Amino acid sequence: MAEKYKIPRGTFDILPQDSYKWEYIRKKFRDIAELFNYREIVTPIFEQADLFERSVGNSTDIVQKEMYKFCDKKGRSLALRPEGTASVVRSYVENSSLQQESGTKLFYLGPMFRYDRPQKGRYRQFYQYGVEILGVKDPLADVEVIALGYLFLKDLGLSSFTLEINSIGCSECSPEYDKALVKYFNRFKDSLCNDCLARLEKNPKRILDCKIPSCIDISQEAPSILDNLDEECRLDFDKIQEYLTALSIPFKVNSRIVRGLDYYQKTAFEFINNNLGAQNALLGGGRYDGLVAQLGGKDVPGIGFAGGFERLIISMENEKLSFGKQPIPQIFLILLGETARDSGIKILHDLRKAGISADFLMKPASIKSQMKQADRSRSPLTLILGDNELDQGIITLKNMNTGTQESISLNDLISVIKEKLS
Ligand code: AMP
Repeated sequence: MAEKYKIPRGTFDILPQDSYKWEYIRKKFRDIAELFNYREIVTPIFEQADLFERSVGNSTDIVQKEMYKFCDKKGRSLALRPEGTASVVRSYVENSSLQQESGTKLFYLGPMFRYDRPQKGRYRQFYQYGVEILGVKDPLADVEVIALGYLFLKDLGLSSFTLEINSIGCSECSPEYDKALVKYFNRFKDSLCNDCLARLEKNPKRILDCKIPSCIDISQEAPSILDNLDEECRLDFDKIQEYLTALSIPFKVNSRIVRGLDYYQKTAFEFINNNLGAQNALLGGGRYDGLVAQLGGKDVPGIGFAGGFERLIISMENEKLSFGKQPIPQIFLILLGETARDSGIKILHDLRKAGISADFLMKPASIKSQMKQADRSRSPLTLILGDNELDQGIITLKNMNTGTQESISLNDLISVIKEKLS
């Protein structure tokens, strides 16, 4: 017997009963990004592995444990992208057309890949929407991306989410804070989990992000970054809070938000939905001022966010929100008799050429099963054509909501239907 294949673990098919939801979100995100005058960028789903190792960071879980890394036939080391920012920055450095003095506003949509333990809201292939602003140091840029994320979630109708913001300091004050953290956590070396022991060496801030209860307990009393920010970081963080208040965007300062990627500096933020369980981050982002230079470009600041479609869809389903209309054909054509079947394809073609969506049952079938199919298609109008009617140049039009039927001339078909649908 031939082998049956199974979908790879941590991935899923987007089936027709759900694919319109994805399209709805894609469209809503494009609309909001265009409302803010961002332009779309599409980068490859694989890049040189080194790009992510250098930017996301060699010591992060994403690079160390989760990256799909492989060699191509020429031995080049490549990786399926685990996130979008590194690729966008790579493209920004490579393409001078993107490097605008006034700042560059980009958005992207597409699949990302991380080899993590799958659970609800966490997959090995997942879909992100994201934005980046390159070239603007002013905290107004931070507020613009946060405002975009906020309006997007609001526009979808979501209400059960909160915005949490933090500043994780810059290359000046962050190392000082790291030292204070190392000093503090060194006292608890015996009780930290193994991952946190490694973090203590490489990236102590990430201990604040550990989900293990004993590590959470220990970090309760750890020094706060907010007491360790330098003047510029503090002023910028204050300004961001002022602007958010002015825009009536509710937020909470959470000094434990550190984000799992090395390139973040200063602002870090997440939109959280606590109804999502363990994977409660709907959307996350932050500032990455050193990244462009680190990837070979000029010293250009950056800020952005990314969010996952899957957690958004789960949240919207929890709140029983609409995903717009499922596409349904405007016309279902029922064909009775041999000659009618032969002419059917021409009628369908004419309807479709006129921009009227139409379908029929391709296999020969009884009127009963064609009617059933017409019902199932949920199209508002059904056309019924028999051999006799064809001889007389007419066709029956049935309104599926009222059940009323009328005969119309085949010559007038398109104009009558257009009028009925208008
Ligand atoms: P990150 O790049 O880790 O900051 O993630 C940004 C957003 O992408 C998260 O808030 C989630 O909505 C989504 N996301 C990240 N990793 C996954 C995953 N493995 N599965 C599904 N969604 C994810």
